[in-house]
Amino acid sequence: MFAQEPVRDIQNELNKFVLDIVAHRIIAGLSKLKPQLLCSLTINLRSPPQKQRDMVFATKKTGSLFCDSPLALAINRQEETVFLNRVKGETGAMIEGRDKMFQVSTLQALALGYTRAVMTVDELMRHGEAGLGTFEDVNGEMIAIDGKCYRATEDGTVEEAGGDRGVPFSAVAFMDGYREFALSGDYDMARLRNELNIRIEEVFGLNSMHVVRIDGTFEKIHARSEAPYRSQHVTLKSMLEETQKSFVFDNIKGSLVGVYFPDFMDGINAFGWHLHFISDSRTVGGHVYEMKMTQGVVRLSRKNSLEIRLPGDAAFDTYSLKSASDQEIRQVEQGRG
Ligand SMILES: [Zn+2]
Repeated sequence: MFAQEPVRDIQNELNKFVLDIVAHRIIAGLSKLKPQLLCSLTINLRSPPQKQRDMVFATKKTGSLFCDSPLALAINRQEETVFLNRVKGETGAMIEGRDKMFQVSTLQALALGYTRAVMTVDELMRHGEAGLGTFEDVNGEMIAIDGKCYRATEDGTVEEAGGDRGVPFSAVAFMDGYREFALSGDYDMARLRNELNIRIEEVFGLNSMHVVRIDGTFEKIHARSEAPYRSQHVTLKSMLEETQKSFVFDNIKGSLVGVYFPDFMDGINAFGWHLHFISDSRTVGGHVYEMKMTQGVVRLSRKNSLEIRLPGDAAFDTYSLKSASDQEIRQVEQGRG
């Protein structure tokens, strides 16, 4: 359908990675755009920042771009900008494989006490760059951001999680195709959830999944994390009553990272918005249940595919997953426990 010749070589000195852009395959990952409407591409070389520059060229065909990495590729069409973030390698294949939410186990299983490792952090992070979760024995809150996995310990301090640490529950995704917008004014959790709902509703996204990242300035973050609790068949609510600690971060810059699941997927994850926080300094963080944000830049990436990795051991089959109480899940995810 499209010719395979390069449209233009860009910055030969940056040709560490070859990016083959096949227009109709990119579009396949961006359901709102049609190939014939693709009128220009903007290449923002975002890293390293001193090399930042913008280049624009027109194409309706296939092209090969020679760029360093990570980079952000923006497709501009009329009023909208859609970013393909950190694309490297063979774009079409990457987009098709990356356009999904990747979920480890289910929230029902976690809520009923299935806290064994399903996979390692290293394996998890091959499936996404941003998201959240927890660790084996609920040993702290997970914040995945910029392709790195962090663990908020019981006192709210953060460390980078070791690659061999076990993961019983998580949802991560790549930010490819994200929308970006700024928010200013005072936002608490209720107002932020409402604003995010409006933003996804306007592009018919309430029944899809989303991964979100908000880089912002916060007057307050109320968060929690917890110490490990080794047991089977003790509910998450009972565990957290024993182990969780709450803390408040004042006047802090950082990122909220999280996922949105539609209500019909309730039980796989918590429906609605679930957010964790990590400071810019990557030193503190946790599961967020309240906050006051004064300014933020939101990046939202919609996901229409879901891959779930269920635990493979026999113990998983001893859980009666449908009996996980909705009320308990609500309390665990949105309340103070
Ligand atoms: Zn959480």
